[in-house]
Amino acid sequence: MSGKPFDSLNTSFGVGDDPLAVKENLARLSASARVEPSKLHFVKQVHGDRVVEASAATPETEADAVWTEVPGTAVGVRTADCVPILIEDPGGRVAAVHAGWRGVENEIVTRTIERLVARGGELAQLRFAIGPCIQRCCFEVDGDLPRRFEAAFGAKVVVRSGEQIKPHLDLPLAVQETLSRLGVPEGHVAVLPQCTMCDARFFSHRREHGVTGRHLSFITLPGAAAL
Ligand SMILES: [Zn+2]
Repeated sequence: MSGKPFDSLNTSFGVGDDPLAVKENLARLSASARVEPSKLHFVKQVHGDRVVEASAATPETEADAVWTEVPGTAVGVRTADCVPILIEDPGGRVAAVHAGWRGVENEIVTRTIERLVARGGELAQLRFAIGPCIQRCCFEVDGDLPRRFEAAFGAKVVVRSGEQIKPHLDLPLAVQETLSRLGVPEGHVAVLPQCTMCDARFFSHRREHGVTGRHLSFITLPGAAAL
């Protein structure tokens, strides 16, 4: 529904797109996913490490992870290069996490897992999906970021190809490393390989110099309240 440069399924009201178009996009997405629009929860993402429960959150609540244990409820995060991480807890919870490099460095995914475990979730049972994001092919970084990431997550998360080329960061690998260190079985983590920057199907904040739409990555807790 959205026109350029937000074409076509932008899900964010905060990027300058026509609000009516965004509303229509979310309505189409809700219908397609068979979730009532009022049961689809997201928050105002701020690159922090705050985790909130969907029932206590509004779209204006500042947080970067949202979870629920209410059947029929969906939780989502909006991204355009950052890493979306969806978590299924078979004990009856789901969570969605937004992690750019700040969120990865601050281990918001760990904070989210802690919350699920505190509610009765079992770490070894959790399942993860790491969605499309800017990948190591495109995520050029500078300053002391590469050194900090190497120190925190190991040398393999930074690719150095020579003196003339800036280091590239592998954000999803840093998330995988975080999960691995916590004891999450490797087979419980699905990683999508698509790069939002070099695959034109995706919105990319970096490729479009900050003016673009946002994808919604979401997960629904099945239940009677679903349509
Ligand atoms: Zn790429």
